Amino acid sequence: ENNGRLIIVAYRLPFKIIRENDQIQLFQNSGGLVSAVLSLVANQNGPVFQSTEKIQWIGFSENSREELEGQSLANESFQAHPVFISDEVNENYYEGFCNNLIWPLCHYFPSLARFDDAYFEAYQIANQLFFEKLDEVIRPGDVVWVQDYQLMLLPDMIRQKHPDNKTGFFFHIPFPSYEIFRLLPVTWRKALVNGMLGADVLGFHTNDYVEYFLKSARLVSGLGNKLHYINMSNRIVKVDAFPISIDFAKFNDAFDDPAVVNARDEARHSLKEKIIFSVDRLDYSKGIIHRLKGFERFLERYSEWHEKVSFVMVVVPSRDSIEQYQQMKSDIDQTVGKINSDYGNIYWQPIIYQYRSMPNHELVGMYTASDVALITPVRDGMNLVCKEYVASRKDRKGILILSEMAGAAAELGEALIINPLDKQDIADAIQKAFNMPEEEQTKRMDAMRERIRNYDVFAWTNDFFTQMTMLEHEHEKLK
Ligand code: UDP
Repeated sequence: ENNGRLIIVAYRLPFKIIRENDQIQLFQNSGGLVSAVLSLVANQNGPVFQSTEKIQWIGFSENSREELEGQSLANESFQAHPVFISDEVNENYYEGFCNNLIWPLCHYFPSLARFDDAYFEAYQIANQLFFEKLDEVIRPGDVVWVQDYQLMLLPDMIRQKHPDNKTGFFFHIPFPSYEIFRLLPVTWRKALVNGMLGADVLGFHTNDYVEYFLKSARLVSGLGNKLHYINMSNRIVKVDAFPISIDFAKFNDAFDDPAVVNARDEARHSLKEKIIFSVDRLDYSKGIIHRLKGFERFLERYSEWHEKVSFVMVVVPSRDSIEQYQQMKSDIDQTVGKINSDYGNIYWQPIIYQYRSMPNHELVGMYTASDVALITPVRDGMNLVCKEYVASRKDRKGILILSEMAGAAAELGEALIINPLDKQDIADAIQKAFNMPEEEQTKRMDAMRERIRNYDVFAWTNDFFTQMTMLEHEHEKLK
């Protein structure tokens, strides 16, 4: 029970703000974080977080200050507080420090990381702007939950001025091993670790990421830990794993939704007898080229499946203003073209490829029409697509082929686990999947479905908040 309000601080606001003439319209995002946060105040088992006030949400505004002047930015759930950042700062902050440095480093692509003093300066300025907005909004008793790698400096800024407000921080991408983290200049890595340690509870997706963070804290700031606790002289920080999840019931129920049934029938009708499906944002961490190489090897080695398989590959446009992403896009286009022309014929196109996002009923239609979901990131903090695939399979069939480099692999051991860099491994897994008896598919699916059903996104938020409120008891124990 808490008398304060819940304040979320994230790079993005919970809705898109469109201004037409003098009217403001708010379009709430359907993303995971928004529904997870909503579940805190409206949970089937009673709210975890008791507050009669709306959730306060601080985030970067894509609209200008003038556009939003005097407008009320609230819907029935959220009160938004936009942070205005100049284009110049935002470019060095968001595209620069966040997406050209932290993202590639944390996904083990140090060769793509760009180190630029202007990036770090902008990162500090931007975090300060988020803090200033929070400083206007925060009241005694409010609980603050800071999200992700865009805001690593913020928890300590809050701690300095508002030490009595409970603060949590969740890191949504992989936290890398120290050998990667130490590539950052000493002052930067100190600032980032100390910034995060301003929180009372620090969350990551897996135990590995927790361990890597603890080691960095030890080597960067000389802070030792006892199990999951770091002792900071006057207080204790809890560092723990909270594997983010999905709305299991929503995906499970979608199986019978008429629009989904239609999409499924349509897919099965127009594709070959075996269907492989993949969907991800355009990103080098997703292993899209590796997946294509693995599929090519499959066609080469297992020719009995020629003309009997359709691989539907959906790539959702993302960050394609960045040069590396454009290059990757044209590599993918070329590789798909080569495989289709090498193996296809007038009756059969091995790969059906779309570079476009898809509506939800089509997505679940494809999840439930396919024999195999082929998910091959070379690095992924969690990967929700594989959890959505499993949750959609109310029929308890289908086979998940999953990269061991995805955070989700820690929870989904009944998948066929592959190394995405090993194309023979991918080819063999597809062959194994195509020959797997239905009873075995069901056995594996049931085990994975049970796990996700029990730890869905509502359990995730509940868990994080319970730990925040339990912390005082744990401090007592540790004294
Ligand atoms: N998704 C989407 N648009 C699409 C297809 C999929 O927004 O056209 C969703 C998908 O359902 C999933 C999310 O994008 O919830 C991808 O999450 P994931 O953790 O797998 O990868 P991320 O993009 O966050 O790295």
